[in-house]
Amino acid sequence: MELIKNLPAVFEEFADARKNAFINVKNVKESGMPVIGSYCTYFPTEIATAAGAASVSLCSTSGETIPDAEKDLPANLCPLIKSSYGFAKTDKCPFFYFSDLVVGETTCDGKKKMYELMSEFKDVFIMELPNSQKETALAFYKTEVLRMKEYVEKKFGVEITDEKIRAAVKLENEIRLAKKRLAEVMKHTPTPVTGLNMFKLLYGSTFKFDRAALPAELNGIADKIEEEYAAGKMEEKKPRIIITGCPIGGVTEKVIEAVENNGGVVVGFENCVGAKLYENLVDEKADDIWLALTKRYLDIGCSVMTPNMNRPVLLGKMIDEYQADGVLEMTLQTCHTYNIEHKKIEAFCRDQKKKPYLMVETDYSTADIAQLNTRIAAFIEMM
Ligand code: SF4
Ligand code: SF4
Repeated sequence: MELIKNLPAVFEEFADARKNAFINVKNVKESGMPVIGSYCTYFPTEIATAAGAASVSLCSTSGETIPDAEKDLPANLCPLIKSSYGFAKTDKCPFFYFSDLVVGETTCDGKKKMYELMSEFKDVFIMELPNSQKETALAFYKTEVLRMKEYVEKKFGVEITDEKIRAAVKLENEIRLAKKRLAEVMKHTPTPVTGLNMFKLLYGSTFKFDRAALPAELNGIADKIEEEYAAGKMEEKKPRIIITGCPIGGVTEKVIEAVENNGGVVVGFENCVGAKLYENLVDEKADDIWLALTKRYLDIGCSVMTPNMNRPVLLGKMIDEYQADGVLEMTLQTCHTYNIEHKKIEAFCRDQKKKPYLMVETDYSTADIAQLNTRIAAFIEMM
């Protein structure tokens, strides 16, 4: 493991992790390791790890290829879907280019229909994700997880034994625990670092290919932050905001910046870069490890589930534990599931948790930065 020199250097290294991974993915391929790309947190990474494959997130975060995507897709579609499809179609995303297999799930309508088009030029394995978390849905999703396991085994000529999947579960749990521990340094008041720097660490860590080294690396950063905090290095005390909603990254980091440029601090991320990724562990001791693995993933509180009972549970816990002063929801334009669900989340925050709540709907342009600043500044001023 590399020595952790000082925190600003670490933040920059993690901020550059995605860019560096563009180069590393080529080296990974040249070493003979297969690469599996995915778009969603419902993808059980353990299958890639157990197969000896590298896994990489393909969700695109810039508007650069949206005009190309709009030649095939409707313009009034979520920017994440358009951007991801555009990067794939134009071969501008090295992760997509080097992926031997792409895994998609039947999450929202836009994504699952987009995967059909993508299947015309790439090997895309589509997992049928149920829309609910009932027992019957769990049994069904387990068959999908096993179907994917078999596909991966055949495609890469490997056998994923129970022993291998248990080892992968153990490693991925260690990574989750290390991410959670790192994120929890933001429970301090005032916080030790800015929310943007914490975001860089969490987001960047999803682009590190050496998964075995990741727990120690993340724990080392958490130790360093705690050490500097104990020595008096910290931010000023500011209104504490939890971000929820659609995935954030790249251009949508403008929302974090709008909070932190207007007097607040983002203490937690209840989304697919933050707690949804690491909060729940797979039960390593379960007799049926495949069922335990399936359950951990199916339980994710995404708005594509109906009803989505697990989202307020996690959000409520974070509001309490991080002593949040307010909740900011970021939704992407035309993301129907999050946009519709926001009414319930608003009521939950205001009525049950007695916390101010604001929803902002945005896209992958920078045209609304001034408007975001105005609305978010007014929101923070209330606290
Ligand atoms: S928000 Fe939902 S659909 Fe999107 S990546 Fe996360 S779990 Fe998947
Ligand atoms: S942000 Fe919403 S519409 Fe876009 S891919 Fe995710 S769930 Fe689908």
